[in-house]
Amino acid sequence: MTDKSNPSILLIYTGGTIGMIENRETGALESFKFDRLLENVPELRRFNCEIDSYCFSSPIDSSDIEPAAWSKLVRIIDENYDRYDGFVILHGTDTMAYTASALSFMLEDLCKPVILTGSQLPIGMLRTDGKENLITAIEIAAARNENGHPMVPEVCIFFENNLLRGNRTTKINAENFNAFRSYNYPALATAGINIKYECDKIAHVDFSKPLKPHYAYDTNVVVLTLFPGIQENIISNILSTPGLRAVVLKTYGAGNAPQKASFIKLLKEAIDKGIVIVNVSQCLAGTVQMRLYKTGLRLLDAGVISGYDSTVECLLTKLMFLLGQEKSPKEIEELMNTPMAGEFTKEEN
Ligand code: ASP
Repeated sequence: MTDKSNPSILLIYTGGTIGMIENRETGALESFKFDRLLENVPELRRFNCEIDSYCFSSPIDSSDIEPAAWSKLVRIIDENYDRYDGFVILHGTDTMAYTASALSFMLEDLCKPVILTGSQLPIGMLRTDGKENLITAIEIAAARNENGHPMVPEVCIFFENNLLRGNRTTKINAENFNAFRSYNYPALATAGINIKYECDKIAHVDFSKPLKPHYAYDTNVVVLTLFPGIQENIISNILSTPGLRAVVLKTYGAGNAPQKASFIKLLKEAIDKGIVIVNVSQCLAGTVQMRLYKTGLRLLDAGVISGYDSTVECLLTKLMFLLGQEKSPKEIEELMNTPMAGEFTKEEN
């Protein structure tokens, strides 16, 4: 029987490098058998918590992830919400920031930790970063404050030493153990000798609210990156794609784009047709300020919405989520201007 003084954690394995183990005879990397988790990571026995695991029937490289997997994760969390104090999701690093962002919107009124982690080297390799990431992610998911509430009641990514808000995070390195960054929001915790929580940065939630899971999404969205020389016929073709409902427009600097009337006209025509266009900078740090330069003001006048200091992963998944809720372009505009899960900092647009 579960000792209620000990937190219980559900470990969900979706796939990715972390779940590989080196076959000692052949040297080849093979998928980790999750029913043998304790055998392979004996350190987990030393935790004062109950750890159960759930394994996707066919673990995947996260480059193969589809939004259906996000809905599946929402279902697993919802079905197990009352039984566990926290959730740790093992996920490939390549699209972890997309999954974390999507879950932050799909798990409305979340009051428990959902910590995504993975590794750059398989858990079975000698120099793996996987064990440390897994062990610390479990420790964070199980941590409670003096009132008995979870320390981190939100969707996060734990990697290397940093606990980052999931919808603020981007993968920036395919080589180093320190693979993720949150440029526009500080770490929620750092793991050194002790785990130091930044309580004023962590979401303040209403613990009495029940979880409201959402499953729907609409993938009729696209990212359009501007560059000097981009052809208008290409932009025009993208914007007239049948079914297209939203565009994440990657602009320059503080949200600036060419002033050419023909380019602005293309955007305005798309917006008039009901396509939502959101402005995000190609710079990783800083925010969109469309009133700062004439080159940004033109976009604002055409009806382009500010993405503030959001990540591209966050904007794409938020748009998919809102479109899936059958919101009108006007409602989407309002909600894009309203932080729903701490995903941006609202400043002048
Ligand atoms: N391609 C792998 C994945 O994202 C890389 C990793 O896990 O780090 O699933």
